[in-house]
Amino acid sequence: MKSPFKMLKLFPYLLLLFIFQCTTIGFHETKVREGISFGENANFRVCILHEPNITGEEIQNLFLAWNEELSLYNLKAEPIVLEEMERPGFWGTDILSYLMTLPLTKNCDRLVYLKGRTWGDIAFEVLTLGIFAGVGVKLEVQGAVEGRSNTRGYIKAKYISTIQILFTSPKSTLIHEGYHLLGCGHQLFMKECYEKIRDVKLLLTNPDRDPNFFPNITTTGRKILNRTQVPIFPSKD
Ligand SMILES: [Zn+2]
Repeated sequence: MKSPFKMLKLFPYLLLLFIFQCTTIGFHETKVREGISFGENANFRVCILHEPNITGEEIQNLFLAWNEELSLYNLKAEPIVLEEMERPGFWGTDILSYLMTLPLTKNCDRLVYLKGRTWGDIAFEVLTLGIFAGVGVKLEVQGAVEGRSNTRGYIKAKYISTIQILFTSPKSTLIHEGYHLLGCGHQLFMKECYEKIRDVKLLLTNPDRDPNFFPNITTTGRKILNRTQVPIFPSKD
């Protein structure tokens, strides 16, 4: 059995690993990226559902940051605000399972729910404020993308906790989840993700693609060429 002291010594490294995993999709490899052709400029439409306390200006700013990152791949995300709605549940998993009951409507290539910050969240943050444990728990719930089609996800779009801001922000969360929306998983270095984005863009010329849909490749390699390939899970109640 490992002695508790050994585990304690390991803890900072585990924490570091965890933070890297959650705040970055991988380390950029500029040389590798510059060697890959990402083809012509292409846009995709990201439909937005958002909690009432999130403003249009905040949404624009989030997309400005995301699009700066996407320009590396000659890509641009266009936000289309569908509606304002209360969050479907307190936990991220509630939001994600709700999103999975929604089909992508005809002007949407992706669907993102922007979660705000309520008094309930603040109470929860205070309760989990065991610094390190707190950081771990909170980073875990900054956002997520469903893995069945990689087209729907949520991010926590508003938070001001000082501990959180040290490691992450709504903008970096959107950029991170944005990579998942383009089929990327987590990796230490970005090469694999660059290739994934290149392959997704190559699907734009696939004759089987719905010309009104921006395609995707899931983390497991399944091609999503039209909206009927996006699985819908009926809600349980
Ligand atoms: Zn992630």
